[in-house]
Amino acid sequence: MESKNCYVCEKQNLSKNEVGLNKKFIGRNVTRFYCLPCLAEYLDTTVEDLLAKVEDFKLQGCALFD
Ligand SMILES: [Zn+2]
Repeated sequence: MESKNCYVCEKQNLSKNEVGLNKKFIGRNVTRFYCLPCLAEYLDTTVEDLLAKVEDFKLQGCALFD
């Protein structure tokens, strides 16, 4: 899988969960990826809330997360 960098802070090699959150919240055809803190800022939420969402999605069996 090609590595993704954060569009805002240019953090390298975003994790699978970070990429998965971008796809869930921005859309599957997302071209600009955000790291966790930048995505939280963009969505006007918190990193803790996003991590809780990851757990929810995993419980639902979503393959975008590990
Ligand atoms: Zn970032």
